[in-house]
Amino acid sequence: MTTRVCVTGAGGFIGSHLVGLLKRSGDYWVRGVDLKEPEWGWPESPPDDFQIRDLRRFDDALLSVHNCDQVYALAADMGGIGYIHSVHAQIAYNNNLISNHTLEAARLMGVQRYLFTSSACVYPLYLQTDANVKPLKESDAYPAMPEDAYGWEKLMTERTCRHYTEDYGMLTRVARFHNIYGPYGAWRGGKEKAPAALCRKIALAELTGKNHIEIWGDGEQTRSFCYIVDCKFLLHQLMMSDDVILPINIGTDRLISINDLAYLIAYVADMDIVIEHVPGTQGVRGRNADISLMNLYLGSPQISLERGLKETYEWIKEQVILSGYGIR
Ligand code: NAD
Repeated sequence: MTTRVCVTGAGGFIGSHLVGLLKRSGDYWVRGVDLKEPEWGWPESPPDDFQIRDLRRFDDALLSVHNCDQVYALAADMGGIGYIHSVHAQIAYNNNLISNHTLEAARLMGVQRYLFTSSACVYPLYLQTDANVKPLKESDAYPAMPEDAYGWEKLMTERTCRHYTEDYGMLTRVARFHNIYGPYGAWRGGKEKAPAALCRKIALAELTGKNHIEIWGDGEQTRSFCYIVDCKFLLHQLMMSDDVILPINIGTDRLISINDLAYLIAYVADMDIVIEHVPGTQGVRGRNADISLMNLYLGSPQISLERGLKETYEWIKEQVILSGYGIR
């Protein structure tokens, strides 16, 4: 019998890609729900059913997961570091409502498997003060001191998922994403993250015959990045897994500074760039993922940063052109 799946946040970056993977497998009937349709269309194919729903409303949450066997809970008020630090109250309010409503609705509707997408932002700030950071393993999340608002909500919902399994027997899975990037993600407007923002800046430089690009801070802050194609595969593996019952990192462990990320994008774009450092939010100094558990239980990323950035750059450059260089 076909498994019926609900993907919340299906109009967003990761959700819209995940819908494509599920549809391509042929094993699922898929409902997508979101506040909006995907801004740049569906990367592969649309879901069987798409509903505009606001998960801050409990009645909408019930209608969203109604008749579904599995829920991928991806909906969240979310953006890059500048965004999540500028609207703490809004993020705390929105994301607590979305997460609690979706979980409780899933329980009431008899959902069998529930996957919550958490974040590397749950890891304690005190472990991320050095650019040459030790990769964070899952148990490092405690003693807790996550990113304000966004990270605290993710950590609390991770725990709520565990309580729903313990108290109600609903199977829950938790993915902790580390910087997912790729085509069909936000690339302008303030919600974009570092790889997309840098691709846009370098594409604009290329198209206008310039070579200066701005980077927030000194650019020596470090991160690891995971391409969307690997991410959605691993996410699906996690939902199907019978072994992984605790939160698990999904990402890569290739640590790179933001300056070097910019140079790598320039390299795949065949550009020479000059970086200008300007004041801006930087987030933690360094963050890397320990992916031992992911490698063991779910699989390993297959796509190099060079290849992923090349595909992302080409897509963003096309969007920059289509938008009249960001003016329209
Ligand atoms: P995204 O912003 O592209 O997608 C999130 C979607 O949720 C958006 O389309 C948005 O409209 C929708 N949404 C927001 N409020 C809603 C509401 N009230 N009702 C219904 N839908 C609502 O973000 P993404 O990158 O695709 O992230 C997906 C999930 O993964 C999120 O939970 C995010 O916190 C988590 N995550 C992502 C990353 C990353 O690197 N992209 C890293 C860590 C965690």
